[in-house]
Amino acid sequence: MSIKQQIDQLRNELNEHNYNYYVLDTPTISDFEFDIKLKELQELEAKHPEFFDANSPSQRVGGEITKNFETLPHEFRMYSLDNSYSKEDLKDWEIRTKKLIDGDIQYTCELKYDGASISLTYEKGILVRALTRGDGFQGDNVTANVKTIKSVPLKLKGDFPAKFDIRGEIVLPFDGFNKMNEERIEIGEEPYRNPRNTASGSLKLQDSAEVAKRPLECLLYNLTGINLGVNTQFESLEKARQWGFKVPNASKLVNSLDEVFEFINYWDIHRHDLPYETDGVVIKINSLQQQEELGYTAKSPRWAIAYKFKAEQVSTKLNSISYQVGRTGAITPVANLEPVDLAGTIVKRASLHNADQIEKLDIRIGDEVFVEKGGEIIPKIIAVDLSKRLPNLKPTQYITHCPECHTELVRQEGEAQHYCPNYNGCKPQIIGRIQHFISRKAMDIEGLGGETVALLVNAGLISNYSDLYELTKEQVIPLERMAEKSADNLIQGIKQSVNIPFERVLYALGIRYVGETVAKKLAKHYKNINAIANASQDDLINVDEIGVKIAESVKEFFESEENVLIIERLKQFGLKLEISAEQLEGQTDKLKGLTIVISGVFETVSRDELKKLIEDNGGKVSSSISSKTSFIVAGDNMGPSKKQKAVELNILLINEYEFLHNIK
Ligand code: AMP
Ligand code: ZN
Repeated sequence: MSIKQQIDQLRNELNEHNYNYYVLDTPTISDFEFDIKLKELQELEAKHPEFFDANSPSQRVGGEITKNFETLPHEFRMYSLDNSYSKEDLKDWEIRTKKLIDGDIQYTCELKYDGASISLTYEKGILVRALTRGDGFQGDNVTANVKTIKSVPLKLKGDFPAKFDIRGEIVLPFDGFNKMNEERIEIGEEPYRNPRNTASGSLKLQDSAEVAKRPLECLLYNLTGINLGVNTQFESLEKARQWGFKVPNASKLVNSLDEVFEFINYWDIHRHDLPYETDGVVIKINSLQQQEELGYTAKSPRWAIAYKFKAEQVSTKLNSISYQVGRTGAITPVANLEPVDLAGTIVKRASLHNADQIEKLDIRIGDEVFVEKGGEIIPKIIAVDLSKRLPNLKPTQYITHCPECHTELVRQEGEAQHYCPNYNGCKPQIIGRIQHFISRKAMDIEGLGGETVALLVNAGLISNYSDLYELTKEQVIPLERMAEKSADNLIQGIKQSVNIPFERVLYALGIRYVGETVAKKLAKHYKNINAIANASQDDLINVDEIGVKIAESVKEFFESEENVLIIERLKQFGLKLEISAEQLEGQTDKLKGLTIVISGVFETVSRDELKKLIEDNGGKVSSSISSKTSFIVAGDNMGPSKKQKAVELNILLINEYEFLHNIK
């Protein structure tokens, strides 16, 4: 096979696996196997730049930087949709359309996905352009970013038209959104408000490698172009699916408005089971011939209409506003509401986000407010019912001082949040930092929970995390809900935590913006805490994935004398503040979460060496093949029963050379 053929074959295979995984949700190979193939392709491509292809699956990881998004015209205008809110509205629409066209009408009912609209242009089956909607006539060229979205096919399959546009919505499913937010909270950042804004914000990120990390999806709903070889909307959805696009299966072809209502009623309830946000149903006249006869108004097609689900909304009274202080000192205003039932849950509180939001809503204590449950996890206040405002209500004054320690708050330029700068003396910050220190992904101290931390701080027994290591059993026994045994466990748990590896200690310190990944990067690069403390800002920025914001925050942390003292103490208590010798020797977590079986006889390595390699790289070695086996490193003379089992369970076999090549 020539190099070109090898490259082509790998590209095809990877495209197919992407499709299976991201469009069909049914992967047929392990992530590891995928990575092996991807690396193989990347290496071949690097050696043979003459075969570069901007649409190779290797380009999905991103890397292209767009400083300014170029504005380009849409070849076919992107219209908006007329909205309807009731069955009456829909009946009116049917009457209007029936006046303009002859013959029976069929409708396709589709869900209205709530994200960012996108128009993709394909030529000869290759993605050539992705534009945002913009003003409908022209949009921003976000091709580099869209290419990183794995459910967007870079190359089509089957029998597609030579050139067409396809429109869809880029959404961020709840799972991925929540995960992104957990990570943000972990590094002390404000969580994103809702999936839709985060999805559209993602499209305008300058660094496509950042976009690649976000779990975005692209759901398609409309084909546009000339000579598409389809006659109906429903058919075009099916075709698009065959060409490799992700087209949700909920769409339904119906013969009457009554059936449309059934569809709406069904999805008004079941949309809550979908993995992504929807805000309505879109009803389209199915026949493209009839669509053409109907045409467009100035803003929207006459052949389609959106039916908006009623956002679940209630009104209730704002009793008070309280201000919470997070572990980084960020202040979050919280609305305390008269308890009210909203879509089956009793709502008592809603986030007000920040001072700007309060000002924007002009919300006053005593106001009657509308609370809505949208895609957000926490209900939000969307407006004040001004018709019910009493004349004596005073405008809300945002607090100027910390509610906990009374220090004057600061608000840095360009930031929405107020902060309490009293790093070392503000109780919720102290408690929050220690809680972070002991948390599962950090020091994972057994026998010590968040509430106990608060008790310890309040009892004056500890005031920073280094104090934990001097606690005695006698000191903790008198605490609430402590007994001999639990006190023992607590002290034991603290003692054992000195074995936690450096990268996790670094994460545990709670430096703002230093999450797990950044901590790993810093630990690997600098090897010990002194080197990090002494690194200049420029030096820090040169580390992979470390930006100005993180670098500044790291510098600031180590500039505090208090922090330096605390770290000095941690050192004395024996915590790992440098990478261990073994860790230095080729340890990675490349194989983390994988269970690997070694079978047969090998030419260049012993079984023990293989075993050590797997374990050094974070994998687990198992002696028997089961459905949990990730793959098998297979040598000569693998037993026939093992071989058969591997085939039955469809488990990947790789030889020693492939394995060694990929692990190094
Ligand atoms: P609006 O933004 O309220 O004018 O609604 C129109 C937008 O709904 C379109 O621009 C699309 O981005 C979006 N949309 C979501 N799902 C669909 C769908 N199934 N068919 C058509 N448009 C949709
Ligand atoms: Zn404070």
